[in-house]
Amino acid sequence: MEGLDTEKIYDIIVLGGGPTAIGCAIYAARFALDVLVIGKVFGGLIATTHIVENYPGITSTSGQGLMEMFKEHMNSLRIPYISDEIRSVEKVNEHFILHSFFQKFKAKSVVFATGSERKKLGIPGEEEFTGRGVSYCATCDGPFYRDKEVCVIGGSDSAAKEALFLSQNVNKVYIIYRGEEIRAEPINKKRVEDNEKIEIIYKTNIAEIKGDNKVKSVIFDNGKEFEIDGVFIEVGSNPNSDLAKKIGIKTNEKDEIIINRKSETNIPGIFAAGDVADAPFKQAITGVAEGVIAAYSAFDYIKEITSPTILE
Ligand SMILES: Cc1cc2nc3c(=O)[nH]c(=O)nc-3n(C[C@H](O)[C@H](O)[C@H](O)COP(=O)(O)OP(=O)(O)OC[C@H]3O[C@@H](n4cnc5c(N)ncnc54)[C@H](O)[C@@H]3O)c2cc1C
Repeated sequence: MEGLDTEKIYDIIVLGGGPTAIGCAIYAARFALDVLVIGKVFGGLIATTHIVENYPGITSTSGQGLMEMFKEHMNSLRIPYISDEIRSVEKVNEHFILHSFFQKFKAKSVVFATGSERKKLGIPGEEEFTGRGVSYCATCDGPFYRDKEVCVIGGSDSAAKEALFLSQNVNKVYIIYRGEEIRAEPINKKRVEDNEKIEIIYKTNIAEIKGDNKVKSVIFDNGKEFEIDGVFIEVGSNPNSDLAKKIGIKTNEKDEIIINRKSETNIPGIFAAGDVADAPFKQAITGVAEGVIAAYSAFDYIKEITSPTILE
């Protein structure tokens, strides 16, 4: 980014480009902290969904649209944003050094808002056909399946929303779910049930994805072969916490960063928030709230480490 001073020690560096990171940065800037946001991809996971109807104050928008508003707010406060991937973090004296491939950045405090990556099924054919009939994003790839038949694997609210989006383009969507009832928000569950193009196949896993140069069928765990043109996998996500773990940040059994109500981790000066952290319910609004708390806690932390009594 033009004009960026990489020798400078920022008060706070926020890692991530999703709602949590931007919410955190907006509050940090308003606390008059010197803040820098570094994100691999701006927008985060929410930018991949076609519709968001539960963000207070905004009746209905796309995930991309929501993040455009976040960007505008961030820009209005002149918060610097760098597109880069941080690959390591180390503590040197009283501050942290963050390294990407080509650059390094220094900060007094760091917030991990690194979100999560989509989980894979780990079955034969999944990797081979990724991009050739296997997808993890209906909004991105759905339009390629006009008038085709596709399936969505999973039973969460996200899976229901993916199926609803796909139904706008395709002839038929099968939701394939290992459970007995999908776990969607009641409003989305009803929309799925009322949608003639969507059919749910319960108590079924897929064991293999088959095709030639593109997907042709899936094999169910009962051995049945089921012809299909596209497979959309929506079976949850894994937190992006490896970087944090490498510097000794504690995680739980799901690899989520353990935080307290102040968004503090076990390492003073390092905070975490959003999908990468250990709250059971993960949404844009909950991530933003944790990010905002992280900004406030970082503000307190910086005050403490730079107070004259400590420096004496
Ligand atoms: C299909 C679907 C529909 C959804 N619908 C809704 C909805 O309607 N309403 C709602 O509130 N929520 C919804 N969610 C959930 C919502 O997307 C997440 O809760 C939210 O995006 C979490 O935000 P986050 O900023 O914590 O993480 P993310 O959005 O995952 O962002 C993480 C960011 O960190 C960056 N990053 C990761 N590692 C590094 C690194 N090493 N260096 C630099 N940057 C890094 C990534 O590039 C990314 O920008 C939906 C999710 C899905 C999958």
